[in-house]
Amino acid sequence: TTFSELNLNPKVLKAVEEAGYETPTPIQADAIPSALEGRDVLGIAQTGTGKTAGFTLPMLSLLARGRARARMPRSLVLCPTRELAAQVAENFDTYSKYLKLTKALLIGGVSFKEQDKLIDKGVDVLIATPGRLLDHFERGKLLLTGVQIMVVDEADRMLDMGFIPDIERIFSLTPFTRQTLFFSATMAPEIERITNTFLQSPVRVEV
Ligand code: AMP
Repeated sequence: TTFSELNLNPKVLKAVEEAGYETPTPIQADAIPSALEGRDVLGIAQTGTGKTAGFTLPMLSLLARGRARARMPRSLVLCPTRELAAQVAENFDTYSKYLKLTKALLIGGVSFKEQDKLIDKGVDVLIATPGRLLDHFERGKLLLTGVQIMVVDEADRMLDMGFIPDIERIFSLTPFTRQTLFFSATMAPEIERITNTFLQSPVRVEV
């Protein structure tokens, strides 16, 4: 498989080619077509497998058209740590350079004020740690009812850090019709339970 066979948005494909990637990694080759079809994806993959581009590229392709409304992000990526969230945000910047999409990073240790401003303008891609996201929600600054695509990255680490109740709460605040891309290095029983509850007939992709 080559990237050009994957039906990515041409502007996303251009950015991928400029990043110097030639062939999709196995998880990308498996996850991207299903995600582009609108299917839920359950990816069982470690860091280093290319999973970040595996969800970022189809998301950007799906979001390329359309515009966000104030305080109603169109997509959401949940990460266990600030560092990972920042890394994911960099990936979005790289691959969305030819698209007109807006992005906000909601992580702790940063003032709410700047984050509020971005949310008010409307964001296509919201990348967040669960605690900080819920803080914004509780403050009444954010609605998750416009989320079309939701990603949970490194769910096994979310479990280790005690974030599973937050994740369940966040799932329940998004529309039932959303598309979900869910990644975990391992499938602990608690993770299995969450995926059974919130994913709809997911395509299981394992590397
Ligand atoms: P990840 O597993 O998402 O943390 O990605 C691991 C590393 O692989 C990152 O440094 C990416 O830039 C790189 N990478 C992702 N996809 C590809 C690809 N198709 N070809 C070459 N490198 C890639």
